[in-house]
Amino acid sequence: MDFEGLLQDEVVQAYLAEIVGAEGMPVAMNPTEEEVVDEDLAEDLEIDPKVVRRTLFILYENDLASYRRDRDEESGWYTYLWSFEYDNITDKLNVEMKKLDENLKKRLKYERENEFYICEIDGIRFEFDEAMELSFNCPECGSPLDPMDNQQLVDAMEERVEALDEELSKVDV
Ligand SMILES: [Zn+2]
Repeated sequence: MDFEGLLQDEVVQAYLAEIVGAEGMPVAMNPTEEEVVDEDLAEDLEIDPKVVRRTLFILYENDLASYRRDRDEESGWYTYLWSFEYDNITDKLNVEMKKLDENLKKRLKYERENEFYICEIDGIRFEFDEAMELSFNCPECGSPLDPMDNQQLVDAMEERVEALDEELSKVDV
């Protein structure tokens, strides 16, 4: 598996950053091909071993790393041998993309099917029914609510959905 090529993908980088946070990125962006002991990895990367361990566990929780314990016969201490499981990234990203696509379509439907009113001063938006109950006056500042044209938002969302649908048509989710 070519981790390097994979990690150049901005979408993959953003996904990893979201999971491990900025602090964990040096670990997430430097997966080893071979099994590695967390202390050794910390030394190689010159990072606090606690951060390395925490990041590895986060990756593990997200099915992107696995470990096995090895017991030292003499000291009785356990060492953790870690493997990066980045083969799973693409599949997981596709699942995320599919979820996003479904949510966006729901939002888009909502935007298309509703009429909105806005208080320009407070930047608060109301659905038609809410606005009517308020007699078309802002509950915060009392100024009249204006009908809101959400066409720009709808257009932007349509474009996003279209792009996502195209991406998803290339993969099997
Ligand atoms: Zn207002």
